[in-house]
Amino acid sequence: MEFNILTLCYLIASVTFILGLKMLSNPASARKGNLVAAFGMGLAIFGTIFLYRDIESGERLHNYGWIFGGLLIGAIVGTLAAKKVKMTAMPEMVSLFNGMGGACAALISLVEFNHLSKEISSGGNNEFIAAHQSTILIIALGLIIGSISFSGSMIAWGKLNGKVKDFSFTGQNILNLILLAIALSAGVWLVVDPVQGYLLYIILALSLLYGILFVMPIGGADMPVVISLLNSFTGVAAAFGGFLYDNKVMLTGGILVGAAGTLLTILMCKAMNRSLLNVLVGSFGGNKSGGGAAAGPQGAYKEISVSDAAMVMAYANKVIIVPGYGLAVAQAQHVCHELEKILNEKGVEVVYAIHPVAGRMPGHMNVLLAEADVAYEKLEEMEQANEQFKTTDVVLILGANDVVNPAAKTDPSSPIYGMPILEVEQAKTVIVNKRSMKPGYAGIENDLFFQPKTSMLFGDAKKVLQELCAEVKII
Ligand code: NDP
Repeated sequence: MEFNILTLCYLIASVTFILGLKMLSNPASARKGNLVAAFGMGLAIFGTIFLYRDIESGERLHNYGWIFGGLLIGAIVGTLAAKKVKMTAMPEMVSLFNGMGGACAALISLVEFNHLSKEISSGGNNEFIAAHQSTILIIALGLIIGSISFSGSMIAWGKLNGKVKDFSFTGQNILNLILLAIALSAGVWLVVDPVQGYLLYIILALSLLYGILFVMPIGGADMPVVISLLNSFTGVAAAFGGFLYDNKVMLTGGILVGAAGTLLTILMCKAMNRSLLNVLVGSFGGNKSGGGAAAGPQGAYKEISVSDAAMVMAYANKVIIVPGYGLAVAQAQHVCHELEKILNEKGVEVVYAIHPVAGRMPGHMNVLLAEADVAYEKLEEMEQANEQFKTTDVVLILGANDVVNPAAKTDPSSPIYGMPILEVEQAKTVIVNKRSMKPGYAGIENDLFFQPKTSMLFGDAKKVLQELCAEVKII
């Protein structure tokens, strides 16, 4: 009976994961989707703790003290970290948590091989070994992928918070391939001859090293793509855990994470118009600090004062706001919404143009604006926004740069050439708010800033928006 209830728990959990993922694809239902999937995960965890019985011995789980101790510590750390994290540091936290998932998958492999090798050394004959070779293969693969995901995610986390610098040397990619080939060969050897238990630790060491060397040369700017890729690795490693324990919910969850991570990686590469190979070996955006890196002066740019900008917007019929990474840095989403409301009161139509890779993580701008209660229907995706610019009086760019850079369309030598952009230059007037003329993520100059219809409104986005609100109110 208990087994059936547990199976039912797993089934419900699997359904909630799928429903949750589906709901995450729409900002309006994303929060609920998260809760639905978390409920399913809770059901799977507590169902396993209280209802699981070993098929052969009929025994329940032991070590409740350790289990609940771990759950409590994990829940406290996770809750505090998630509550405290700044929106701009979200990819860092995702990377850290993803690394923990990879470490868990690797630990499962180590523990389970330990159990198996005890049975082998206490008289396991050839038949016993032959019957368990597929299990050892799963253990080896789970260990390789989980370890790569763990060490790679730790390096990605270090890079994003500036503690780890890009590092590469000639022949690094070849060395990486050799390391991976040796780790896989050691895995095959272990399957053929499981008595050689030390091979497991060689596989562990090589995989950890591979994870480090694989992420080390990748440009800081490409970390979100890499994290998404490593996330899919963790999912696959967890799915191997599901095979190992014949646990359907672990298998479903792992496969969903693996598939979602892979799709997200592909979508991010597509939105940046780059191949995954180019991301992994291209070292794009490694110079993350920016600072006037690339092209020389493009001519003169003109500035606009806050009061003039306020005037232009207050008398417009339609204003499109283009949010970018700088809006998140300035944490100016609330005051941005305030400006939208003030303009609405003056009869100005205001919508937001959302580029798929604006900010530093997928959906960054959607999450940021949702935090300030901006209505979802006001967010226009890139294709729709591009159709509206021609009939728009004013485009207000807030801390965005690469996603509005015309070089993506006009300059084949540009690193962002081919990336679809927001075609803001079609609007009548373009106002760009940023703090300086420094480049964005890709480290390149932006010709838009020098075009006749563009005016620069320098300053921190939050401060400038506060001033704009005050000015528009009195017009
Ligand atoms: P960018 O990084 O191109 O530009 C952001 C701009 O914001 C900078 O030029 C900076 O200029 C300005 N800025 C920074 N702080 C402030 C502030 N406090 N107030 C006002 N402005 C500020 O951002 P975009 O959003 O346009 O483009 C995102 C980039 O990130 C793309 O290249 C994309 O490919 C890349 N990327 C995105 C990922 C995603 O998933 N979203 C993942 C990986 C990469 P200044 O210093 O002069 O103020």
